[in-house]
Amino acid sequence: PDLFQPERPNSRGFDLHHRPTLDAVIKARDAFATHKWSATALVAGKAKANAAVRVDNPADPADSPGTVAPASAAEIETALSSAKPWDAAPTERARVLNKVADLYEKNFGEIFAILSREAGKSIPDAVAELREAVDFLRYYAANAPEAPAVGTFTCISPWNFPLAIFSGQIAAALATGNAVLSKPAEQTPIIAHLAISLMHKAGVPKTALQLLPGAGEVGAALTSDARVGGVAFTGSTGTAMKIRAAMAENLAPGAPLIAETGGLNAMIVDSTALPEQAVQAIVESAFQSAGQRCSALRCLYVQEDIAEDFIKMLKGAMDVLCVGTPWHISTDCGPVIDETARQGIADHIQKARAEGRLMHELMTPNAGTFIAPSLISVGGIEYLEREIFGPVLHLATFKAKHLDRVIDAINATGYGLTFGLMTRIDDRVQHVTERVHAGNIYVNRNQIGAIVGSQPFGGEGLSGTGPKAGGPHYLTRYTARPATPVDA
Ligand code: NAP
Repeated sequence: PDLFQPERPNSRGFDLHHRPTLDAVIKARDAFATHKWSATALVAGKAKANAAVRVDNPADPADSPGTVAPASAAEIETALSSAKPWDAAPTERARVLNKVADLYEKNFGEIFAILSREAGKSIPDAVAELREAVDFLRYYAANAPEAPAVGTFTCISPWNFPLAIFSGQIAAALATGNAVLSKPAEQTPIIAHLAISLMHKAGVPKTALQLLPGAGEVGAALTSDARVGGVAFTGSTGTAMKIRAAMAENLAPGAPLIAETGGLNAMIVDSTALPEQAVQAIVESAFQSAGQRCSALRCLYVQEDIAEDFIKMLKGAMDVLCVGTPWHISTDCGPVIDETARQGIADHIQKARAEGRLMHELMTPNAGTFIAPSLISVGGIEYLEREIFGPVLHLATFKAKHLDRVIDAINATGYGLTFGLMTRIDDRVQHVTERVHAGNIYVNRNQIGAIVGSQPFGGEGLSGTGPKAGGPHYLTRYTARPATPVDA
C-alpha cells in the first residue's frame, strides 16, 4: 500500500485500524525482533572509544537490543574541537532535512522495533513518535529564518521521546545552520545512533552533527565548555537548573538555553461534563505511554456532586486497560523505562497505600519494569511534592464554589505545562482558561499529543523557557541576534 503522502504538510502516519497497514507495520518491525545494534559515538575525527555496555529492554530482562559505547573524554574533546556550523545554503539544508524525514519513514520497521525494545513503546506510541519526528524535520526545514547561526549547539534529550524530541532539537539547530553536539538519554542510545546515521546518510556533514551517547556527565561536559554557543535541553526541571548554572559560569554571556521541562498537570471536571467523554480523555491522558509523557495528567479534580458515579466509571475504564509487553498490538500500557524509575514510582504508591489513599490498582506483570495504572486519593495537588513520572493518577474532589481555590492551588505549584478542562459551560471555559497558568490548555479532550505546526508545545514557569516547540517562534532562539550599535 501507499503508506505515505509526501505532499501533506504533516505526516499521515499509519492507520492501525486498517488491517493491511497493521500487517505491514508488524511484518516490517518483526524483521528486527532479535536484531542486535551497536551504538557508538559518531564524531568527526579519530579518538579512543570506551568499552561497550549492554542496553536493556525494559519489558523483558531476557532481551537486549544491543550495546552502547558511552562517549569517552577523547571523543568529547574531538567533537568539541571539530564542530563546524553547517554553512550550506538554507535551501540545501532544508532539502537534506526533508530527505532525513523520508529516510525515517522508509525505515519505520527498524524504528518501531528499537522504540519497543529499547524504550518500551507500544505500537500506537511508536507510530505517533515517528510522525512527530518527521513533522519536526519537515516543519523546521520549511520555516528556518534567514539569520546567522549561533555556532555550536548542544542538544540534550530525554528517553521518553527518544526519536521525536531528539530529532526536533537537532532539526531546529541544523535548519538554522548551527553545528550540533547531540547527547541522547542514557537509556536510549540505539535509536539516537540510528537517527544520526540516517542524518549523515541524507547529507548532513559530520562536522555539523556529532553524537555523544552516555550519562549525565557527558551532558555536563557539553554544557560547560566555552566552545558551545547555546543549549537545547528537554528533561527534568532539576537538570535544567544545573545546566543553566553551568552555562552561566562557562559559556558566553547571553548564550541561549531553550529548556522544556517537567510539569504537575491538572484537569478539572465539573458537573456538566459528559462523563463518558471525560473518562476516556482521563484514561488516555494519565495512562497512555505508561504516564511517561511530560504532558500527562497527574492530578484530577472532580466536582463533588458527580464524584461517586464518576469514580466508579473511571475505575471501570481502568480495569479494561491491557498492561503488558509493548510488542503486542493490544497493549495499552507498557513498562516504565528502568528499575530506578519503577522503584521510585512503586515507593510513591506504597506510601499512598500506607496512608489509606490507594483507591484502585491494576495487576502488574511479573517480569520487566512494569507499574500498573493506579488511582490515589488526595486532598489537592499540594500532595504531589514532585512529578511522578508513571501511570499514577491522583484524584481530588472540589465544591463548585471553590473552583477558584482549585485554580490557585494548581498555579501555586509553579509549574505550567498542560491543563485540561471538562465542562459544557462556555463562561466557565473562559473563566478558567484565563486564570490557569499553563503553556497548553485542552478543553473537552485529552491533554496529550500536540501536533507540530498547529499546536505548538511548551510550558511556562518551572515547565520551560519557551518558545514552544513546533511553533513559529521556536527557530528564532537558534539564531544569533544581529549585532546592534549598543553591542558593538
Ligand atoms: P533528566 O533526568 O533531566 O535527563 C534529561 C537529559 O539530561 C538526559 O539526556 C540526561 O542524561 C541529561 N543530563 C543529566 N544530568 C545532566 C547534567 N548535569 N548536565 C547535562 N545533562 C544532563 O530527564 P529524563 O528523566 O530523561 O526525562 C524525563 C523528564 O523530562 C520529565 O521531567 C519530563 O516531564 C521531562 N520532559 C519534558 C518535556 C517537555 O516538552 N516539556 C518533554 C519530555 C520530557 P542521562 O540520561 O544520562 O541522565
